[in-house]
Amino acid sequence: MILPGNTSCQGCPISLAMRCLDEIENPVLVIPAGCSTVVAGLHPNSAMKIPVIHVPFASTNAVACGVKEAYKRAGVKANVIAWIGDGAADIGFATLSASATRKDDIITVVVDNEAYMNTGTQASLSTFWKAKTSTSPAGKADEKRNLALIMIAHRADYVATATVGYIEDLRRKFGKASQSEGFRFIQIHCPCPPGWRFPSEKTIEIARKAVMSGAWALFEFYDGKLRFSGIGKKFAEKGNRIPLAEYLKVQGRFEHLGDEDIVAIERAIDEEWEILKRFSGE
Ligand code: SF4
Repeated sequence: MILPGNTSCQGCPISLAMRCLDEIENPVLVIPAGCSTVVAGLHPNSAMKIPVIHVPFASTNAVACGVKEAYKRAGVKANVIAWIGDGAADIGFATLSASATRKDDIITVVVDNEAYMNTGTQASLSTFWKAKTSTSPAGKADEKRNLALIMIAHRADYVATATVGYIEDLRRKFGKASQSEGFRFIQIHCPCPPGWRFPSEKTIEIARKAVMSGAWALFEFYDGKLRFSGIGKKFAEKGNRIPLAEYLKVQGRFEHLGDEDIVAIERAIDEEWEILKRFSGE
């Protein structure tokens, strides 16, 4: 789906996620400005082996909806994917919410690298609490927004969280979205070497530590029920998790944190898990 020699940084999680698009039947990407634009390549070149439409931020889901309708009228079976970053999910939130409410027959994928990386690591609503960014040099003041839960509140047909740390789980979720219909949403945790300030060979290790520490929950929602998925089931139990510091302390964006900060973040993570467990009934 993506050619070697593309313009992503070394260790880029987005190019890893793009490789998994071969699980989706006849994919067509609609991409707003962001890292994915750069990875996919600038006109007249393209690193993608599939159709890509580049659009303004706020129009992404509206364009994806229209393109899907055009394919339907032409009698062509295609999975149209609004492929957005967490920044585009902020800027285009009204369009995303409207698309979910209409139950547009498309897949929305959020490659969540927890900041506006393409323009210099400005904080987004998905930025992790207390992380340093160029607009939060003392650490982000507010907690990460849980976009997947917001999509469940829209009663989307399929919602999943995934990570580039566990590619088989990500591939399975792409495949499930491909075989389903209606509004499908997948948020992929994407550790970013330059933005989070870690060596490029550690992308997978850090992605896995996010799951193992409980900082990133893996779940799916369909048929009205939330289910913890894959290896994520194991870490729903706090006793199975690694210390949160093992995830945070290997990233430069958290180098300023003291023990009290880490305890506060851990408490917030525990509270979010309680909400997820209430949704799941587990
Ligand atoms: S800044 Fe991060 S997400 Fe963006 S292309 Fe580079 S590694 Fe990938």
